[in-house]
Amino acid sequence: MDHKALAERLLPGSYPSLQFYEEKYPARNLPKGAEVTRLAPSPTGFIHLGNLFSAIADERIAHRSGGIVYLRIEDTDLKRKVDGAVEAVISALNYFDVKFDEGAEIGGDETYAPWYQRQRAEIYRAFAKKLIEEGRAYPCFCTEEDLTALREEQTKNKEITGYYGKYARCRNLTEEEIYKNLDAGKPFVIRLKSMGNPENKFKFHDEIKGDVTVTENDQDVVILKSDGIPTYHFAHAIDDHFMRTTIVIRGEDWLASLPIHIELFHALGFPLPRYGHHCSLMKQDGETRRKLSKRKDPELSLEFYRKEGYFARAVKVYMLTLLNSNFEEWYLKHPDADPNEFPFKAEKMSKSGTLFDLDKLNDISKNELSKLSAEEMATFLEGWANEFGSEAQKAYFKDREKLLSVLTLCMGIGGKKRRKDFTTASQAMAFIEYFFTRTTQVDAYRVDGETVKSLLSDFLSVYSYEDDAQAWFEKVKEVAARHGFAADMKAYKANPEGYRGSVADVAEVLRIAATGRANTPDLWTIMRILGEEEVRRRLTSAEAPCE
Ligand code: GLU
Repeated sequence: MDHKALAERLLPGSYPSLQFYEEKYPARNLPKGAEVTRLAPSPTGFIHLGNLFSAIADERIAHRSGGIVYLRIEDTDLKRKVDGAVEAVISALNYFDVKFDEGAEIGGDETYAPWYQRQRAEIYRAFAKKLIEEGRAYPCFCTEEDLTALREEQTKNKEITGYYGKYARCRNLTEEEIYKNLDAGKPFVIRLKSMGNPENKFKFHDEIKGDVTVTENDQDVVILKSDGIPTYHFAHAIDDHFMRTTIVIRGEDWLASLPIHIELFHALGFPLPRYGHHCSLMKQDGETRRKLSKRKDPELSLEFYRKEGYFARAVKVYMLTLLNSNFEEWYLKHPDADPNEFPFKAEKMSKSGTLFDLDKLNDISKNELSKLSAEEMATFLEGWANEFGSEAQKAYFKDREKLLSVLTLCMGIGGKKRRKDFTTASQAMAFIEYFFTRTTQVDAYRVDGETVKSLLSDFLSVYSYEDDAQAWFEKVKEVAARHGFAADMKAYKANPEGYRGSVADVAEVLRIAATGRANTPDLWTIMRILGEEEVRRRLTSAEAPCE
């Protein structure tokens, strides 16, 4: 068979040589040991936790080694393309502190551009042509129906499905048959002519999983589709080589394709990058553990964390906790350190399923938010409110001084111990709502309506905005005593039958009247922040009892 003539017939025209591309995309000028990593998503518009998981690992491995991380868009499958998807990837990952050094819509060192696979058609064709010339690729004229029939036959015979061995019909077409099909204008794809034998197994060192056993590939995978667009397998091998990727971090779902990739790299004459396949994020669902699912688990989408207002650093800390088994211990020792200082290592990544637990993330979030100053918290909340908050919530930021007092109080700043009541921006904004509007009655009074009314009006008659905390509390005690509630807790505990309740019950009535809630930070401070007029308005209008 004249492979050269066939290659010219299938992909006419002259294409640059391997040498040309080797020079066009030279080895990167980086210090020894510097890693080049990449995130290579398809632009489907759905960015998920798995992407973030890989991206943080990519970013850490690259930057800790003085290397670079780039963003490549694998858009060979146009059916799945969504407008704005690339910007969405960048902004979603930026939010979590993953910044690319170069790539699609980012720019950077143009030597390795373009970063959209659709714009790299020529290079894929050049290498497909080269493989055909070398007899390592051939045209396949099988139709969808032929392939479906083949799959059905293989399934029936309980055999591995695919285009391989004796099933690779077009692999053995004669020159005459090929040209006859071409002359008849039959559409074709280009397939790799695999040289592998599935009887052969070999050891492969995975950067995360350690040594794994790999079976040689024998599938004649498609490398160019009938429209001349490459498949993922083919395009990514060429790109990882010419973008000079040193280590590929990706989900373990890709482990099954590794034999194909190894054979492709060999056929193309490229050295293999190193690979690290990380485990999937799992969720505990009752008794079983399953992979997070797009359909069932809103928390799989990164959009969820933006909308809920998760603090980016908290998500990053949690991801690092899951990514490196020794991160948690390191972070306990260095709670105030920048998580980027942690010596991240691919080999410390977990080898088997990682359990993702939203409760654990919430705990980390509480902890991280409790480290912020009131000013930092205000900035964080404002960022969220501008994007996702209601008009009423946006108004909280008009009086910055008041907001800072609210946050100082609610976060326990200046107190003995910081409070950890805030989990996310949306939750924190709901939490502080009562400082700005008296709309929701969260908790009901535990005393009857008449008592509520008389306690409130008695308190209002003695209330003075100028009172300090101590004087204020003395007055609450007086009101309590006047209504048969024990002013002194010790006295109450010694003789609970002798009273209608204690000063704590009276304070609770005031608290619910002022805030709608039975549990709040210090009530005197709340009243100071609300201002005299607002306190009087709320206590006067507090309808009782209220559900
Ligand atoms: N485009 C593939 C994906 O979206 C990338 C796989 C890889 O990282 O090699 O999953």
